[in-house]
Amino acid sequence: MRVVITGGAGFIGSHLCDRFLADGHEVICVDNFITGRRENIEHLTAHPRFQLIEHNISHPLHLDGPVDAVLHFASPASPGDYLRHPIPTLKVGSLGTHNTLGLAKAKGARYLLASTSEVYGDPEVHPQREEYWGHVNPIGVRGVYDEAKRFAEALTMAYHRYHGLNTHIVRIFNTYGPRMRLDDGRALPNFMAQALRGDPLTVYGDGSQTRSFCYIDDLVEGIVRLLHLDYAGPVNLGNPNEVSILDFAKEIIELTGSQSPIVFAPLPEDDPRVRRPDISLARKLLNWEPRTDRREGLARTLAYFRRCLAQQTGRAANQRAPEGVVP
Ligand code: NAD
Ligand code: UDP
Repeated sequence: MRVVITGGAGFIGSHLCDRFLADGHEVICVDNFITGRRENIEHLTAHPRFQLIEHNISHPLHLDGPVDAVLHFASPASPGDYLRHPIPTLKVGSLGTHNTLGLAKAKGARYLLASTSEVYGDPEVHPQREEYWGHVNPIGVRGVYDEAKRFAEALTMAYHRYHGLNTHIVRIFNTYGPRMRLDDGRALPNFMAQALRGDPLTVYGDGSQTRSFCYIDDLVEGIVRLLHLDYAGPVNLGNPNEVSILDFAKEIIELTGSQSPIVFAPLPEDDPRVRRPDISLARKLLNWEPRTDRREGLARTLAYFRRCLAQQTGRAANQRAPEGVVP
């Protein structure tokens, strides 16, 4: 297949690029680096089946030649990122989805939209099943992300129903792993960076809110299986193993062996109280469930963040060293 992956230089997108190349496909990565990083894909730039197109997908993209699949992953995803970039987030979820659907339609390609558990908002139903319509504040600060993704789902279903496009919607729950940005503001990178630096871990609110964390390799496997199936409705992919944020912070302190204390900070506006996927549908349709235990996934992610911090420290030392002196 010739596969277009928007947001391919981001955390999830770069792992998808790796996977499709490893499966023997050709990958066209489209990214404008608003939240992604060149480091995530630099190991691929010389690959004969990899191409990078630097482009803002909120503007139309015309490609020569055939395309077999379009995976639309471009969007700021961390709350800190989408609060910093509210209008680009709304645009990439709406205009970007329109442009990628148009590309898939022009090429007769299958289409997969990266949606999110945020379409359920601050859920009144727990765990969340695909049938649940959600509880979203459209004018709240998180609305820029949640409503963009809800619109993206509506547009994808319209292309499916009206144009007969072979579409897929994956509702991704909190996913983690190597290549997250250390400073993206999400709980996991924040806690790991704070623990490794010996700084206090910042738990927002009283830490009783819950999340369910899925390791990246498990998510990628679910996405690949879904893309090959003819099923247009939304499918939850995530790990049902739920944990309170306070316990999660303690787990990371223990794992790192850090002496960092925990400090409490105000809960952000509209922060969902609970989140856990019901993955019965993914189990049935895809014969899929997460395989990576949280301790194992966290250990792999920690090893990555340790390397990132060591590189940062090395760079800082290089900058301080007098000319000709190798620190
Ligand atoms: P990320 O920020 O690491 O990656 C997003 C990528 O999209 C970045 O490389 C960014 O530069 C690129 N991008 C953003 N706007 C663009 C535009 N207009 N044109 C071209 N490129 C653009 O985030 P991520 O965690 O890898 O998330 C990827 C996708 O998965 C997003 O659509 C997100 O909504 C979805 N998702 C992620 C999670 C998660 O836990 N990581 C959960 C739910 C949904
Ligand atoms: N959180 C926290 N401390 C941090 C960062 C996040 O307590 O330094 C909390 C946040 O308020 C939320 C949860 O951790 O309740 C998960 O936040 P994240 O930003 O990772 O993603 P979300 O699931 O909210 O999109």
